[in-house]
Amino acid sequence: MSELPNCVQCNSTYTYEDRGLFVCPECGHEWSAADAADDDALNIRDANGNPLQDGDTVTVIKDLKVKGSSLVVKVGTKAKNIRLVEGDHDIDCKIDGIGAMKLKSEFVKKA
Ligand SMILES: [Zn+2]
Repeated sequence: MSELPNCVQCNSTYTYEDRGLFVCPECGHEWSAADAADDDALNIRDANGNPLQDGDTVTVIKDLKVKGSSLVVKVGTKAKNIRLVEGDHDIDCKIDGIGAMKLKSEFVKKA
């Protein structure tokens, strides 16, 4: 038997499958396997709580030291065409004058 996911709404373990939908008998929530897969997508938000996507342009909201160098990414610096990655530093980007670096989403906002 395949393992059923817990309810995405109330985390109940009593979910069952019905006509391609997962159903929770406790709170009545129904969702599709496709929805469940969406939850695995990177859910990365900027400092204001706006969702970020690959290709977005973000602005740095605080001076950030570049690890292993004396460079500082200044407040207001823009990073274009970001790429979201998993991890502590969840944004891959290139910054003019500095090059490729990783940022934390909590220190940027969507431009
Ligand atoms: Zn539920």
